[in-house]
Amino acid sequence: MKNSAVFGLCYNKVDCFADIFNVSITHQLFEMRVRIAIEKVKEAAARRVDTERLQLQKIALKIHANPEIGLQEVKASGWLTAYLEKKGFTVERGICDMPTAFRASYGKGKPRIAVLAEYDALPGAGHACGHNLICTIALGAAVASKQTVDTYGGTILAIGTPAEEIQGGKITMAKKGAFNDLDTALIVHPETFDLATSNALACQNLYIEFFGKATHASAGPERGINALDAMILSFNAIGALRQHIRSTARIHGIITDGGKAANVVPDHSAAEFIVRAADDTYLDVLEQKVLNCFIGAAQATGARLEYRWDEQRYAAMRSNMTLAQLYADNMKSVGRKVPIPNPGAGAGSTDMGNVSQIAPAIHPMVAIAPRTISIHSPEFAQAAASDAGIQGMVDAAKAVAGMIVDLLASPDTLHKVKEEFSRTS
Ligand SMILES: [Zn+2]
Repeated sequence: MKNSAVFGLCYNKVDCFADIFNVSITHQLFEMRVRIAIEKVKEAAARRVDTERLQLQKIALKIHANPEIGLQEVKASGWLTAYLEKKGFTVERGICDMPTAFRASYGKGKPRIAVLAEYDALPGAGHACGHNLICTIALGAAVASKQTVDTYGGTILAIGTPAEEIQGGKITMAKKGAFNDLDTALIVHPETFDLATSNALACQNLYIEFFGKATHASAGPERGINALDAMILSFNAIGALRQHIRSTARIHGIITDGGKAANVVPDHSAAEFIVRAADDTYLDVLEQKVLNCFIGAAQATGARLEYRWDEQRYAAMRSNMTLAQLYADNMKSVGRKVPIPNPGAGAGSTDMGNVSQIAPAIHPMVAIAPRTISIHSPEFAQAAASDAGIQGMVDAAKAVAGMIVDLLASPDTLHKVKEEFSRTS
């Protein structure tokens, strides 16, 4: 019965089947032509990355040779914006009241796809985190996407985000609305392995001080209040707490002042802690539990407690798994097999987490060194200027440029990305 209306339009069943068959073939041919067109634009984007390779390499190595720590990335920011301007991007410097932040854009209107650049070095360790490659991946992908934008419309942005290492620059930029109008935010970080996205924990630093009363530790201990005892009791209370928290959470800290002399009861002690959790709600719960450990120790010893939570709170990374799949698919085209992690808790924290709460985002890793070495080491700093580092940069730029073709050419794909983002918020 359900086909009666269709048969009603046909003068016999044979012709009707032929019409349906023809429509189906026409549709398949149309889809095939669209797919071929998309592949051609992707190939052109990859060729453009190859054309830009030497210039990108020059910038990556210059930044590597001139490491600048967070908010002092004047040279790096200058080189990156000069390149983008030369390639036809409109550049705004010093956005969000941060002199070394920038936004470069090409195209008009929606969708707005951003690639994020980091370029700060580690204090005392140069580019041991490979941020000289993060920014050139972003530049390569952005410039290679110009033809994509010309073909399908939309806007591609390269956003310069300073000070990832020392103060979470993206947290400040997020508060100032830098990522509010984005449909997708992409970044790729060098590592010793390939991964389609990395999950990261929400986290906040806690600064603690206890104030006691100094006295001779042997001649008059009964007249003193021991600020170090308060701190040690706090550490022990946190040790007991650890057994009863979620396995994905982390609490770790150091004592930065434990007194000055063994024969003086310390009148001051200080510590810095980091509290991490897989989501912001549990971080709230955990922060109160940790604070209670210090409050209890203050009551037990009579020391006065002062504490301060860091203004910058890192949000958990909300990895968009549709984007992660697209990254893995496009990395396959450049010959890299990239695993996709399960959604959920990871390790460490990144200010990209705060971006991922505002726009669909991923934080993939590209391998530039063997797994035997570790990130933030002198060996990794060398890798960030090696042939493998440059190859990783080129591969990642091609993959991101390929993703941008997928997102701009197919409204369905972008819809899927955004639907996942709304569903998981
Ligand atoms: Zn890093």
